[in-house]
Amino acid sequence: MVQTIHNPDKYEEDILQIKKISNEMVNDCMQCGKCTAGCPAVAEMDILPHQILRHLQLGHFDKVIQSKTIWNCASCFTCASRCPRGVDLAKLMEAIRLISLRRKGNDRLKVENISQLMTDEKMPQQAIVSALRKYSK
Ligand code: SF4
Ligand code: SF4
Repeated sequence: MVQTIHNPDKYEEDILQIKKISNEMVNDCMQCGKCTAGCPAVAEMDILPHQILRHLQLGHFDKVIQSKTIWNCASCFTCASRCPRGVDLAKLMEAIRLISLRRKGNDRLKVENISQLMTDEKMPQQAIVSALRKYSK
């Protein structure tokens, strides 16, 4: 595979951070497109799910983190269930959202504040789903 990594040091750092949060390997993806074919949210995405993987493989992390796609992913795990290579793209999307928030300085959420935050009508759907998965048993 020919790689066009813009900044090798930065690429390593970004991919390591994604791996640390999600425990997923972007290079496992073989670009079959099954994730995109089954994704219910593609109409709201500016980069398709399989393209997110390809951009990550090529080191285009800035393009991915600035995309609408990461915020319009519904965390439904359809992609993960369809992937023949066992790549959990939903987890990767969540990791990228977390990195985005951390870069803006919003890296900590107090558990006691969550119920109040959930009443905010502007709260993104995936934030509610993610909080539910993280903080419920
Ligand atoms: S289904 Fe899996 S292997 Fe196929 S493009 Fe999506 S992430 Fe890659
Ligand atoms: S988890 Fe996100 S990317 Fe995967 S199928 Fe659902 S909406 Fe699409």
